[in-house]
Amino acid sequence: NNFCRNMPKIELHAHLNGSISQPTMLKLMRYYADSGIEDKSNAFINEFQIGAGDSRILSIIDCFQFVTIAQSLTRFPEALKLATLLTLQEFHEEGCIYIELRSTPRNTQYMTMKQYIETIIEAIRESSLQITLVSKYIISIDRRSAISEAEKIINLAIDSHKQHQDVVVGVELSGDPTVGKFSDFLPAFSRAREAGLKVTLHCGEICNVEEILEMIEFNPDRIGHGTCIHPDYGGTAETWSALCESKIPVEVCLTSNIKTKSSPDYSSHHFKKLYEANIPVIICTDDKGVFITSLSQEHQICADTFNLDESEMVKITLQACNFVFAEGLKDTLQKRINDVMCKN
Ligand code: IMP
Repeated sequence: NNFCRNMPKIELHAHLNGSISQPTMLKLMRYYADSGIEDKSNAFINEFQIGAGDSRILSIIDCFQFVTIAQSLTRFPEALKLATLLTLQEFHEEGCIYIELRSTPRNTQYMTMKQYIETIIEAIRESSLQITLVSKYIISIDRRSAISEAEKIINLAIDSHKQHQDVVVGVELSGDPTVGKFSDFLPAFSRAREAGLKVTLHCGEICNVEEILEMIEFNPDRIGHGTCIHPDYGGTAETWSALCESKIPVEVCLTSNIKTKSSPDYSSHHFKKLYEANIPVIICTDDKGVFITSLSQEHQICADTFNLDESEMVKITLQACNFVFAEGLKDTLQKRINDVMCKN
């Protein structure tokens, strides 16, 4: 079935280093070899992807080690730029027309956090000259980081948003959900919001009722996952009614949740609860490299699992356009989708 492949799609939850595919990794390794830089990732190239029922994974926490291989490959600015360009190209090739790529700025031996951000912006600008995919950047804060580091990243995000409003559109909180507290990061996120940045938070990846309620009360523009919010999935009546009342859109990552064992299987995924409650959902990939998936595949799995017909899939995609962080693009994106769907 080519329908999900051909439908123009919107990606709002993709971590750069987790999205790096095996072919892109091989190209990055070639870059290191050609530059004469020692690179040890060769030994790990077959280990960074998580297959179905992978015995190495017992819970979501085990998954975080897998992106470190990609992160080591993007420690040089040139390699980071190449990884961004190739990843955007891959999304474009499978029918994505708008993407908000997210990534955590890192100080490496070879670049500062500021250079990290600038490199991604440069890659996004360059890619927009080559392909019709509209790309934006959401700057990530890792909840494992110190508050002082988060404050620094928010300052950089505010500065880069001022300078590159057409590229840097938001900030987000991600990383190991068992570490750190949202309430500690809240002042930093409030500052970002006041400066005009949109905010999305990984919310309810594990059952932490207090934090889920704090996050919903903060009223972010979107949340990621929302796994443990419904009472059947470890949430409470209070967390669920808070979400239903707020109608905060949820970035849903089906395969990611299955492979990290946050959900037992596709058919019991909380997507159904969200969809039935009319909470806006956006179908996303999370880490397409690590989880061996694609945006088309995630749409197909969603359609097959929940018996959604073509018109329902188009409706979900058109609705996703309402929640993009870039200003003034909604109508253009919806038109692009409608134009293609009317032709078919
Ligand atoms: P990066 O920010 O481009 O380096 O992408 C990898 C990072 O994204 C990881 O180190 C995590 O902080 C974050 N990440 C990727 N997948 C998940 C997830 O499922 N939950 C929370 N954080 C995630």
